[in-house]
Amino acid sequence: MNKNIRLTFLGLFILACVGASFYMYKSFLGKDKKQAAFTYEVDRVVGNNIVPIAIIGSGCAGLSSAIYGARANIKTVVITGPKPGGALTETTWVENWPGDKKILGPTLMENMRKQAESLGAEFLSDTIVKADFSKWPYLLETEGGKKLNALSVIIATGATPRTLSIPGEKEYWGKGVTTCAVCDAAFHKGNDVVVIGGGDSAIEEALQLAGYAKSIKILVRKESMRAAPSMKDKLNYYDHISVLYNTEVEKINGDDRGVTSIDIVNNKSGQSQNLAVKGVFLAIGRDPNVSMFKQYIKLDDQGYVWTNDGTQETSLAGVYAAGDVEDYRYKQAGVSAGDGIKGALDAIEFLRHHGFNTTVAKKMESRYFDDFDLKRLEIKLLSNKEEFEKLQKTKSIVVLDFFAPYCPSCMHMLPVVETVAHHLQDKVVFAKVDTSQSTELAEQFHVTSIPCLLVFKDGQLIARNHQAMSRKQLMEFMNQFIQ
Ligand code: NDP
Repeated sequence: MNKNIRLTFLGLFILACVGASFYMYKSFLGKDKKQAAFTYEVDRVVGNNIVPIAIIGSGCAGLSSAIYGARANIKTVVITGPKPGGALTETTWVENWPGDKKILGPTLMENMRKQAESLGAEFLSDTIVKADFSKWPYLLETEGGKKLNALSVIIATGATPRTLSIPGEKEYWGKGVTTCAVCDAAFHKGNDVVVIGGGDSAIEEALQLAGYAKSIKILVRKESMRAAPSMKDKLNYYDHISVLYNTEVEKINGDDRGVTSIDIVNNKSGQSQNLAVKGVFLAIGRDPNVSMFKQYIKLDDQGYVWTNDGTQETSLAGVYAAGDVEDYRYKQAGVSAGDGIKGALDAIEFLRHHGFNTTVAKKMESRYFDDFDLKRLEIKLLSNKEEFEKLQKTKSIVVLDFFAPYCPSCMHMLPVVETVAHHLQDKVVFAKVDTSQSTELAEQFHVTSIPCLLVFKDGQLIARNHQAMSRKQLMEFMNQFIQ
């Protein structure tokens, strides 16, 4: 009896071993087949410039994705976009980032980027201008003319600040009208200014201005603010910040120096008023940056990228979205980071599921995208009139780029300016002015908002630009002045 039992167990054991070996052999074969199919598919449809994980955008979501993508030992390329570091670079203290009692937004983003870089993530200082998701691998084209064949894509393009579309807004943009208090507050020492909006951002802008402006009025269109109570409480510490409810701006007025006043109306009483101010800070929300992708992926009712049931999957396999571009509800740094992480894990799973592994990666390596960054010319830093006058003697056309290290759009412009300076070095001389170090030249040329480019021809100021520009836009802008 005992012997029979032993024999039965032995038989079962041998059967199990044979079964397990067969299963392992089959799954190995399956894996091999998947791997071969994956390599074949990539070979068939794409030549070079392969990127296994392409992340569009370098804000909180994009950088969190990059940390996870790179840490999984998969080539991960972040295309930084027009505002490296994203919305958090325009904020001051962040008090709700888990693990840090208080940290500056730009510092937080710098830390995240350094962490991603140390793990092997690559950064391309460029902007995606075209995405073709009609076939896989997905084709991404940069403004600098590079073409990337992405095996998976994480969209982390964030959202763009809204504008009011009222008379005077465009005309005085950069001459008192702005969305970035972090960048421009320092130009409003002793000025009367307004902040428009009733959310947390409006309060942040007002607090940023508090150290500089003489008076700050927050204009709220409803009879209450939607900002968090803890944020509203902060206003109590400042006597020179006040809130006007039921108030809308109808027009922004000014002269050749910039904004001088605004026309406001009380939407309850109908009473109009002219308010003398020099600064108009807009904080009226943001719109998700989806225009490049909306023909390929589903959007939700609010116009944000639709994601599938708690994951970061979009309606297209291999394409994921994270952060403000897909989050209508929470819009918090911590949530963006979490979603960025989920997006990377989803992308990694997608690649693995389709047969991507270290063997495939090794085979493909020689055809991976490699960034040969566009050549730049390091430009001179000026701090006073004498240096500027000396520079003017060297070329007929001189361009001054006013910036500050705390201004994200300025920091985006610097490499752009240096690339264009390299291209135009025979015809134009470029120089930069750090307004956080010296205000002499800013005062001389009435620069009240950065970034700001001033173009001089034969000693005369002939053009002024306050918008952050791409390489292409700056080249076009400069071509107007070069024969
Ligand atoms: P919100 O969408 O929260 O608020 C926008 C504000 O602008 C609202 O008061 C809205 O008015 C007003 N507004 C919109 N359009 C107009 C218009 N045409 N004219 C006048 N007013 C207008 O945007 P925020 O940028 O303030 O915040 C976005 C998200 O980021 C939020 O979730 C916020 O909590 C978060 N955030 C968090 C911070 C923090 O924790 N430290 C800091 C900054 C932002 P109405 O209320 O009438 O719609």
